[in-house]
Amino acid sequence: MHRLYLDHAATTPLAPEVLEAMMPFLSGHFGNPSSLHAEGRAARVAVETARERIAAHLGAGPSEILFTSGGTEADNLALRGVRPEGLLVTSEAEHEAVLRTARALKKSGRPVRFLTPDRAGSVSSELLEAALEEAGPEAARGALVALMHANNEIGTLTDIPAIAEVARRHGALLHCDAVQTAGLFRLDVGALGVDTLAVSGHKLYGPKGVGLLYVRGGVDLAPGVTGGAQERGRRGGTENVAGAVGLAEAFDLAAADDTRAERLAALRDRLHGGLTAALDEAGAGPFVVTTPLGEEAEAEAAPHLLHLAFPPKDGRPLDGEMLLLGLDLAGVAASAGSACTSGALTPSHVLLALGLDRATASAALRFSLGRGTTEADIDEAIARVAPVVARMRGA
Ligand code: PLP
Repeated sequence: MHRLYLDHAATTPLAPEVLEAMMPFLSGHFGNPSSLHAEGRAARVAVETARERIAAHLGAGPSEILFTSGGTEADNLALRGVRPEGLLVTSEAEHEAVLRTARALKKSGRPVRFLTPDRAGSVSSELLEAALEEAGPEAARGALVALMHANNEIGTLTDIPAIAEVARRHGALLHCDAVQTAGLFRLDVGALGVDTLAVSGHKLYGPKGVGLLYVRGGVDLAPGVTGGAQERGRRGGTENVAGAVGLAEAFDLAAADDTRAERLAALRDRLHGGLTAALDEAGAGPFVVTTPLGEEAEAEAAPHLLHLAFPPKDGRPLDGEMLLLGLDLAGVAASAGSACTSGALTPSHVLLALGLDRATASAALRFSLGRGTTEADIDEAIARVAPVVARMRGA
């Protein structure tokens, strides 16, 4: 049976062009960028050229790009490293990379404020404004606001430029986790107004184990990993040369594909329309579409995600894990939401933050589309998913 991979928010396949660009640095060019000899200098040129290419895509300077092992490390470096270590303001719907880091910082005595998003999963600039005002001018000045660009479970977009305007007016800094939107939108750090921004390679057809933190020039960032002088002394350790080259190639590929977001949104809408009709027809409800879609939606959504949650029917909850396994058997790779929480039976913290009950928050389905997804895949997914849900509902 033809497998339908609809879990691109968890990870994407490595693009062949990316692999090709990386190959010389996986076999052959093996030098250490810190070495003075020709082998080392070739590696240094590769890393710095990659940095320049990526910086150009983000509207940043090369010295503002810090390579990391991925999104989680980039989020950690920002939350733990940005100075001053003042109030941290974030949302209950953030990815664990931010949420758990914020909780750990709170435990160690840092003042942290967790904002509750609205029903669409969004933190508005008004909500942030109210929180910073409540904190008072002294705490707001030098605070760090950490809000994601697109929610990785339900796809809600945060209005980052509006958030940045509020943060700036109060003298706070802004960190943005853009792991889900890099490669879909052209991210210009100046237009977004962010001070730091996290990206992960494997979400945009690049390799796993590489990512970056943009750090605006002038932002004081304490070293996250002490050791050698790599990454301007802020992250010691021999550079992931092939990873940096692969990440640059992935950015180039995304920039060359300027209809990617539009195409994905059209496929997402096809899935939304087709699947909701098929679920209704199969008597597989009730279900709620948690991704903010349609004219009534209170927020905008990322183009690649469709998220549904299934409330109990006649008091009987749907088993979210069984649902995913049933879909897997039907050849559909989907997710409950965050890859880090799927597999565990804990209800999604994002859905709980939206106000969903625990049973519904434990029975969720996220489809995330990618550049290889076709209309035929979508139609086939609709045909396979509805009967699985209906069977589990006993319809
Ligand atoms: N932030 C968001 C929004 C994500 O979706 C993910 C991955 O699921 C991460 C951070 C973590 O990125 P990485 O897997 O590169 O550590």
